[in-house]
Amino acid sequence: MAQTVSIFWFRRDLRLNDNAGLQAALRNGNPVLPLFIFDTNILNELEDKDDRRVSFIHKHLFEIKTNLEDKGSSILVKHGKPAEVFREIISNYNIAKVYTNRDYEPYARERDKETEQLLNNNGIDFLSYKDQVIHEKDDVLKDDGSPYTVFTPYMKKWKNAISNQSFQQHPSEKNQDGFLKIEPLPFPSIIELGFENNPAHFPEKRIPFDIIETYDKTRDFPGITGTSRLSAHLRFGTISIREVMKIAADTNETWYNELIWREFYMMILWQYPYVVKKPFRKVYENIVWRNNEEEFDKWCSGKTGYPLVDAGMRQLNETGYMHNRVRMVTASFLTKDLLTDWRWGEAYFANKLLDYELSSNNGGWQWAAGTGVDAAPYFRIFNPESQQKKFDPELHYIRKYIPEYHTDDYPDPIVNHKEARKRTLKTYQEALKR
Ligand SMILES: Cc1cc2nc3c(=O)[nH]c(=O)nc-3n(C[C@H](O)[C@H](O)[C@H](O)COP(=O)(O)OP(=O)(O)OC[C@H]3O[C@@H](n4cnc5c(N)ncnc54)[C@H](O)[C@@H]3O)c2cc1C
Repeated sequence: MAQTVSIFWFRRDLRLNDNAGLQAALRNGNPVLPLFIFDTNILNELEDKDDRRVSFIHKHLFEIKTNLEDKGSSILVKHGKPAEVFREIISNYNIAKVYTNRDYEPYARERDKETEQLLNNNGIDFLSYKDQVIHEKDDVLKDDGSPYTVFTPYMKKWKNAISNQSFQQHPSEKNQDGFLKIEPLPFPSIIELGFENNPAHFPEKRIPFDIIETYDKTRDFPGITGTSRLSAHLRFGTISIREVMKIAADTNETWYNELIWREFYMMILWQYPYVVKKPFRKVYENIVWRNNEEEFDKWCSGKTGYPLVDAGMRQLNETGYMHNRVRMVTASFLTKDLLTDWRWGEAYFANKLLDYELSSNNGGWQWAAGTGVDAAPYFRIFNPESQQKKFDPELHYIRKYIPEYHTDDYPDPIVNHKEARKRTLKTYQEALKR
């Protein structure tokens, strides 16, 4: 049989530098064969043929491949179910160990358990590392050992738990002699994966210091570039969270806290995986949603007659991104003004967002619907008109996405906000009584 190798399995950590699991693999002594699997369990669930995420991953994998080939190595890129792919790899290579970075989503946990078992049955160790967060799992708990469900005390404890090592990089780029020397391996095209290329312009892979410095003053205005646009890079690990957090801690407290929200929701998903399907606060299971499909379609296509809501939905549909302030307003409008189940909106965002992250999306939707951890109280309902006056007073954002605004082609509001507000308060109060 061929020489003994270790595998490094890339998932949501698509970079060669400062990568914890990759560094461990490269230091272990056996030459490292990098692997990526286009997982059909995930791909088969995607609705759009030109899903932006497939193009984004493909692009960054190609960068990795080119980089590795410059060093005389390559990457094995497979398409299929991970268990089947591993069965095939085990029969083709002599594998000592498989290295990877941990992933905390319910599907990933199942997948990794199954993979570990399969590998162990074949005498191969499966080793996983913390890489996508600073604090994971039970790293930050209350003094009594239970998980936090309110953000501010979690954030304080999170910061107290920072040590000199927390942001220290894992410079995998310094060990790159450890890659297996091999001829270039085949690389599937997007078409071969069953998708079409999305010509989207992806956000730059660069930390925008100028924006971060004044983030607390600019972040709420969707008409300007006042946020970092790093979400997709953090989602797919094309940028290291350690590098980003170190800069955040040194530069802007408000931005630092937003990054801690990301870890808060990841922790919540880890501790309470039932939130994927159910409200965190179980009593809200009693809400009788209206779930009007015609209204839902108007919300999806940005035709509610509320310009900030419509501009947001059109930004999402056209670009795969929506500004955070507008995510809150559109989510509030769907759940409160239209009384539509937050899971409908969550699923729509999940299909469209380039930065889609189960934990943050679920957290954001449950926050807006008032059903989640540390959520907005149900009686605090965003007024879409006053939000617009406050955060897009000169209509920069609205005019960008709604060219027909202020013409006869723009629809009248599909619901009267004042009346909808009363209806929602009544519905929520009834749910809480039961
Ligand atoms: C209904 C709803 C759904 C959302 N869905 C997602 C999602 O699927 N994926 C996602 O990454 N974020 C989601 N968010 C959070 C937030 O809107 C985005 O992270 C942010 O808009 C991304 O833009 P940015 O990179 O410029 O962020 P910045 O404002 O520059 O923030 C820096 C980073 O901090 C993190 N972050 C910021 N705000 C939040 C937050 N409220 N919750 C969790 N993390 C945060 C992100 O990783 C972000 O890239 C959602 C928010 C709401 C209200």
